[in-house]
Amino acid sequence: MDIPRIFTISESEHRIHNPFTPEKFATLGAALRLEPGTRVLDLGSGSGEMLCTWARDYRITGTGIDMSPLFTEQAKRRATELGVTDQVEFIHGDAAGYVADEKVGVAACVGATWIGGGVAGTIELLAKSLRSGGIILIGEPYWLRLPATESIAKGCGAQSISDFLTLPDLVGSFDDLAYDVVDMVLANQDGWDRYEAAKWLTMRRWLDANPLDDFANEVRDLLTSEPKRHVTYTREYLGWGVFALMPR
Ligand code: SAH
Repeated sequence: MDIPRIFTISESEHRIHNPFTPEKFATLGAALRLEPGTRVLDLGSGSGEMLCTWARDYRITGTGIDMSPLFTEQAKRRATELGVTDQVEFIHGDAAGYVADEKVGVAACVGATWIGGGVAGTIELLAKSLRSGGIILIGEPYWLRLPATESIAKGCGAQSISDFLTLPDLVGSFDDLAYDVVDMVLANQDGWDRYEAAKWLTMRRWLDANPLDDFANEVRDLLTSEPKRHVTYTREYLGWGVFALMPR
């Protein structure tokens, strides 16, 4: 079980697989006023940076589930590096339908809401693991500027304009689901660059090391086109944020 190979190549050097920076995760952790020993569940935990740093900084305990063997391995290595292997565990697997045995104080899905079939479905899934008084975290893109055409949406990596909402509509959608938005931390363009632009050097080095690989043409084409695509579309049109929610 694995994710498409392109991510395993282009994001192999990423610690954070979304437009958040280490500072943003620290801000979010502080904003949540995490008590030591709080249990955190993270669906689509990537390379484990959120759980590992919060385990170090806030003494939380956590479980992360991710479909990528590489990212899961990196998460385990990061836990060792930060000395938190007794507090966090990382499981390689499909997080769709995953419900924790023991209820958690924070249930998160940060940049992987397809796991629950979209934002609403993911909130419903996470709610099954949440203890009373707990907080759900949803990391999700939104339209900073509504694209005038479907081709602009595609340029942003979306299938269609309807894939994402504007920020007011996204925040309003949590209200519609009867959740209080109790905090939020938003990414910015610098964060988008750390996520997107950081792939370019990784792809270039991979190409230099693997010129004869079956995948080399695809990576070559992407490295050629991605910088311009990013500054034309994603950087200008897409926002991204993590929203902290509590059921009413
Ligand atoms: N939350 C992490 C990773 C976000 S990127 C971070 O903030 O860095 C999305 C992640 O979802 C990737 O790590 C990918 O491997 C994982 N993923 C994709 N589909 C999944 C699934 N069905 N179950 C579990 N993880 C999945």
